Amino acid sequence: NLTDKLDKAFHILKGHGKITDVNVADTLKEVRRALLDADVNFKIAKDFTTRVKEKAIGSDVLTTLQPGQLMVKIVKDELTELMGGETAGVNLSGTPSVILMSGLQGSGKTTFSGKLANFLKTKKGKKPLLVACDIYRPAAINQLHVVGDQIGVEVYSEPENKNAVEIAQNAIKHAKANGFNVVIVDTAGRLAVDEQMMNEIANVHAAIQPHETLFVVDSMTGQDAVNTAKAFNDRLNFDGVVLTKLDGDTRGGAAISIKSVVNKPIKFIGTGEKMEAIDVFHPSRMADRILGMGDVVSLVERAQEQYDEEEARKLQKKIAKNEFGFDDFLTQIQQIKKMGNMKDLVGMIPGAGKALKDVEIEDDAFKHIEAIIHSMTPAERSKPSIIDGKRKTRIAKGSGTKVEQVNQLMKQFDQMSKMMKMMQGGAGKNMMRMMGG
Ligand code: GDP
Ligand code: MG
Repeated sequence: NLTDKLDKAFHILKGHGKITDVNVADTLKEVRRALLDADVNFKIAKDFTTRVKEKAIGSDVLTTLQPGQLMVKIVKDELTELMGGETAGVNLSGTPSVILMSGLQGSGKTTFSGKLANFLKTKKGKKPLLVACDIYRPAAINQLHVVGDQIGVEVYSEPENKNAVEIAQNAIKHAKANGFNVVIVDTAGRLAVDEQMMNEIANVHAAIQPHETLFVVDSMTGQDAVNTAKAFNDRLNFDGVVLTKLDGDTRGGAAISIKSVVNKPIKFIGTGEKMEAIDVFHPSRMADRILGMGDVVSLVERAQEQYDEEEARKLQKKIAKNEFGFDDFLTQIQQIKKMGNMKDLVGMIPGAGKALKDVEIEDDAFKHIEAIIHSMTPAERSKPSIIDGKRKTRIAKGSGTKVEQVNQLMKQFDQMSKMMKMMQGGAGKNMMRMMGG
């Protein structure tokens, strides 16, 4: 699958200290193959790898990062870009705001109409009305009523009426008269794009002039999804895309291609059959999904964010002047802790998640250490050499630990101080190096 392929692709870069023409070319060949396998359009995949190559070659390998990770970051940033920035949500400016669903039969329009109504009701405090404009299958009207009952949202339908335009218009009148502030119009779809379906949805669209027209597409349909999106966009000039059925191990490539071809934002994703299975679309999360590589990128970014250049410089000065004390030790621990808890951190290292699954990692590995340091007086913290046996007993008592634990910490502190004196570049940097790879 895509995950394994990209794993393999990035593996090529492992062990190389520097990004060169050769290892970038090898990696990108694999990345392109992986994208094609995920149903990304050929030209899009090719352009994509060209852009990544330009960025990668000549880029400095950050001291704290391995080239493989830097490459992942470049690929991820590009992917995110390709899928658009953060989304604007739906236009809710109307009274009522009218939202029209479009898409093929089976794409998930009816289900998503319910999910969106539920989302707007529970998360945005709206009073939505669902409208059944799928007039061809009696079961379709019924299905929407079942959905409406489930989420406690009223459904407007006219089972005898065979004119979708009329039903939609009547529904909006009904909404105005009864205080609904959002109208969600569910429509009929065909199994494939055809003129009659397109004419009907275009007529409804022209008649009600929705504030928001959403195109709903099954993400499992791969390249077909792109062609369908194009056909609907040509007729409706829709405002946004809803990618459904992104649960399970569905390939996410359609997201990339659709955005590139119709240049409309993906606004929501459907991740299951339940009414709660709706998410606002986040390009960067989707990139993670497509890359499927654990959260390497977050790890890299967090390391970069949290590494405090200034702190490190101060620390270096102290070490040079032999002033490194327990307070500084505490600061170092807090730096590490800021990056997240231990389990999270380990989970973000690719491969490690699997390997360490059975190993118990203590979330509070630093708890005792912090307790002990907190039980020291300021004098003891800045000048640990004054801590004698009597003081140790007091500290152990105060921190609820044993004297052996205090001894152990003293020993660790001693080793760390020695190590840091020998080191160039400061302790913070070294720790980052340990964390970053
Ligand atoms: P419509 O014909 O476009 O109205 O599509 P439906 O809403 O009737 O959905 C077709 C089928 O897809 C139904 O069985 C839904 O339960 C299912 N479905 C819709 N959205 C999702 C989703 O996000 N995940 C999964 N697993 N199934 C979905
Ligand atoms: Mg339907």
